[in-house]
Amino acid sequence: MSKGITTRAADFAAWYNDVIMRAEMADYSPVRGCMVIRPWGYGIWELMQKALDDMFKATGHQNAYFPLFIPQSFLAKEAEHVEGFAKEVALVTHTRLKAVNGTLVVDPDSKLEEPLVIRPTSETMIYAMLSKWVQSYRDLPVLLNQWANVVRWEMRTRLFLRTTEFLWQEGHTAHATEAEAVAETLQQLATYRQFMEEWMAMPVLTGVKTDGEKFAGAVWTYACEALMQDNKALQAGTSHFLGQNFAKAFETQFQTAEGGRDYVWSTSWGASTRLVGGLIMTHADDLGLVCPPRLAPQQVVIVPIWKTDAERDQTRDVAARVATDLRAAGLRAHMDGREGMKPGAKYYEWEGKGVPVRLEIGPRDIASGQVMVARRTGGKAAAALDGIAAHCRAVLDEMQAALLAAARARREGNSQRGFANKEAFIEFIEGVGGFAYAGFCGSGACEAQIKEQTKATIRVLPDAEFRSPEAPAGCVWCGEPSTAEAVWARAY
Ligand SMILES: [Zn+2]
Repeated sequence: MSKGITTRAADFAAWYNDVIMRAEMADYSPVRGCMVIRPWGYGIWELMQKALDDMFKATGHQNAYFPLFIPQSFLAKEAEHVEGFAKEVALVTHTRLKAVNGTLVVDPDSKLEEPLVIRPTSETMIYAMLSKWVQSYRDLPVLLNQWANVVRWEMRTRLFLRTTEFLWQEGHTAHATEAEAVAETLQQLATYRQFMEEWMAMPVLTGVKTDGEKFAGAVWTYACEALMQDNKALQAGTSHFLGQNFAKAFETQFQTAEGGRDYVWSTSWGASTRLVGGLIMTHADDLGLVCPPRLAPQQVVIVPIWKTDAERDQTRDVAARVATDLRAAGLRAHMDGREGMKPGAKYYEWEGKGVPVRLEIGPRDIASGQVMVARRTGGKAAAALDGIAAHCRAVLDEMQAALLAAARARREGNSQRGFANKEAFIEFIEGVGGFAYAGFCGSGACEAQIKEQTKATIRVLPDAEFRSPEAPAGCVWCGEPSTAEAVWARAY
């Protein structure tokens, strides 16, 4: 058996990498800043995609696909947008190489008249198309989603959290009225929250970003923020109300029902493979990954235990039948009948991958009509072979609920509301850290000073249900009257 992984307490960043490597979820690629997503990590992403895709479609959205390349001039059309992305774009300037003295060089004759940007996000391309497709109020709303890869140049790689190329979905909608677009923005925020809590078992705060933290080109950015086990925040999904900013930049106008002309009101919203990083940092432990059952590529692994050849045939036979029963009941189950590998080594492997439930079947278990049920989160007990599928489903449901409850308790235990003074606030941020709920005067200067001194940022001005029962009176930094309660934290 190989040695263990780094513990969270010893080095959280090293632990995070060890979890990914041990579970074989991803690896570093020969291209700096890029990662390779291996089948186990991609399996989790596929389950995430499926769940989100179903939710988007249930609210009337349709999938489409837009090009990877965007003319450079498009990016320049929305002033804030270009400023936000200019420093991290990859650019295609030539289309050919040629061999010179046995080496490949860029063919200067193939220089593009206008360079192409590899999409950092697709707003500009989509608005260019919408201005063609939308003529009248009858063409609205347009409710689109795209599953795609995007590129934002990064020099430092953090698997799943910060990579030059990443996978995501980007929703883009256009509406006839401001009210409809605002409602869409909030609906998608609620969809993300529901997915994160019900599927990922990751509780999130929702709220609005300050001007300093919002998406480049948005009027308002709403976000879901989760607290990781090292007490740093992770922005897990954002939903933007774009107003008429992009519509004006791209002349996306339509004829209103009253016969006038107006620009469309629009939204965009996205969530990425960063969610996989969030899942790891919410649930994994010092043994490896812990997969919430609803997103586990395999929910139950069945390990037959034998000594003799006759026992091997018998236990593998029963284990295979159990696997078939579980799959027939709609569970994702795998029978690990590999030879030349001790049961302990198999347990170790599936533990690292975070498979929620392991069933152990030996000859004595079969004789007594039972099986051992081991939970990834701890605990092992015998259960009757008869009715094992229903039993496994109940265990998985219980584990899913327990993971959410534990993550919520951890977040609440690491949140502090109200600070006696500025020093107490700094001490909290620079100490164990967590979500700091404090008064904010609304000034960009206070926000910048806090960031400069403590590295904490305002994660959101939280929605009503998360706010403290009593609104804070003064700004935690300058003491001026508070205009909103803010949640501060250091973040990924
Ligand atoms: Zn202030």
